[in-house]
Amino acid sequence: MPPCFLILENELARVILHGSPLSPGIAIGTLNLLPDTHLCDKRPISEAEVDAEIEALETASASASARLKATASSIPAHLAEYREIVELQMELVRDPRVLNGAKGRIRHKKICASWAVSETIAELAALFESMADPCLSERGQDIRNIGQRLLGALAGDSSTHASDSPCILASYALSAANIMEFSPDNVIGMVTVEGGVTSHVAILARSLKIPAVGGVGELFREARNGETIILDGLAGEALIGPDESEIRRFKARRESYAQFETEARQSASLPAITRDGYDASVLANLDRPQEAHELSRCGAEGVGLYRTEFGWLRENLPDEEALTQEYSSIVNAARGKPVVFRALDVGADKILPAHEALHEPNPALGLRGIRFCLAYPDIFRIQLRAFLRAGSHGPIKILLPMVTGIGEVRQTRVLIEQSVSDLERQGTPHVANPPLGIMVETPAAALLCPELAAECDFLSLGTNDLLHYLMAIDRNNRHVSYLHDPLHPAFLRVIREITQACSERGKPVSVCGELAADPLGTAILLGLGIRTFSATPRFVPAIKHTLRKLDYRSCRQIANAALAGAASADTRLRLHKTLARCMESRHFIHNGLITGAPPQ
Ligand code: PEP
Ligand code: MG
Repeated sequence: MPPCFLILENELARVILHGSPLSPGIAIGTLNLLPDTHLCDKRPISEAEVDAEIEALETASASASARLKATASSIPAHLAEYREIVELQMELVRDPRVLNGAKGRIRHKKICASWAVSETIAELAALFESMADPCLSERGQDIRNIGQRLLGALAGDSSTHASDSPCILASYALSAANIMEFSPDNVIGMVTVEGGVTSHVAILARSLKIPAVGGVGELFREARNGETIILDGLAGEALIGPDESEIRRFKARRESYAQFETEARQSASLPAITRDGYDASVLANLDRPQEAHELSRCGAEGVGLYRTEFGWLRENLPDEEALTQEYSSIVNAARGKPVVFRALDVGADKILPAHEALHEPNPALGLRGIRFCLAYPDIFRIQLRAFLRAGSHGPIKILLPMVTGIGEVRQTRVLIEQSVSDLERQGTPHVANPPLGIMVETPAAALLCPELAAECDFLSLGTNDLLHYLMAIDRNNRHVSYLHDPLHPAFLRVIREITQACSERGKPVSVCGELAADPLGTAILLGLGIRTFSATPRFVPAIKHTLRKLDYRSCRQIANAALAGAASADTRLRLHKTLARCMESRHFIHNGLITGAPPQ
């Protein structure tokens, strides 16, 4: 799909820009475009002007810092945790690396302060962004944001485009501080050139329920301040200069989505039984201990996937005590419901310092997941012991990522048995025999499913990775993103093989990839024989709601046609129609994973 295209109709040129959905919902409003640090005053200066430019930079830094201070003190109590983020920006805007770097350029290159700031920021941001650790690489966005502030202050823009009326913020990169500055109530949507789903701003947007779209490369070329924009945080699209009929259509879509979320939340505690009486379960995916409080509210029947990597992506490796505490807090929050802990899935885009030394040319195909765990058994043992100890507080299961063969499961069992005997000898409370499962996310594991199902206690389908490895596409390469098609017959056939193998061996299988959270995905997976779904807490009520509206037999028919080779466009259309019928709404709601407009 092209990144941007024009629709010419009735002399009106409107532009649809494509990006990634960061936070669901629809926003319609006026665009407030914050200055782009890449486009600034670039003026050579004479020796006589150097001191004045340095002074201008000092003043700009002091004024940006004062504004941030005022913002920090006005953050409402229920958002107190974001004060830290604003305070971090206060530090960065006075950071000697930024200021001295810019001053050096003014002196030696004889360029004006804004040009010097823009070069310094670009260099520092690129340095951070090239770091493999996502936490550090996202610091690049903070740096760009600081650049924006300094450039705004240098241009004498004391208002930083703040407005008292609701707007859709657009920027190269946004920060939590921007939202606070505008007051969260006035930010009805956000669109950025940069920013992935794990960025600060995406997390904040989701928790404040502000629709957001990131990765919109053409934003600054196509958008103008003050224009009307429709932001579709479900599909990851921004429509600039919409006409009346489009505004009406998206208002209806927004209404439909709000209604859908409300209905879903109200019924979150009801069981997920399809119209024709098939029982399903919906579990929660958690990434961090802070998310555990959402478990009881969202109606999840347990934790289907606890991604453990985030506790390890820091300078020093965590110790067994810290991990035991983290994992026990999740088990306690689950109140007797099972928690599936996934073994460390580092590698690919989640790199530990230990990885950096390996200099892998292609980390997505390298020492990732269980391969890393088994290559570093001393690290793996620390985690296994923490799992087993947390298991003394309630039911746990252990899940292995990136499995390709039976040997990996057997080697892990040996390590678990050794850890159990050590804990026994030391008299440390633990669980002795937790169920052991595998993620099916490599083509090898999918093909070996009958044997693997016999070897382990449960299986979990990682559709995010399975699709990428099956289609041989890099998830970060936009040139091949058109091949990211979860309705591709090859992918659906693989899923069907997996569900069949598991059912023949009587082993439970669930889906914990993002596909489970897309209503089209929920429907096709149901038709392919999946009964257990696991997703981010926010989407759990919606999946349960969708399942209650669906009937298994219709989904089965669509799945059968798709397995017989129907083109994915036909499958998508049939799913749209079925959902529109079942959900009593023609405004189909999806989270953007399966792209394509609803039938008109
Ligand atoms: C998956 O691959 O589908 C999955 C759930 O794992 P992750 O997204 O953490 O790679
Ligand atoms: Mg995965």
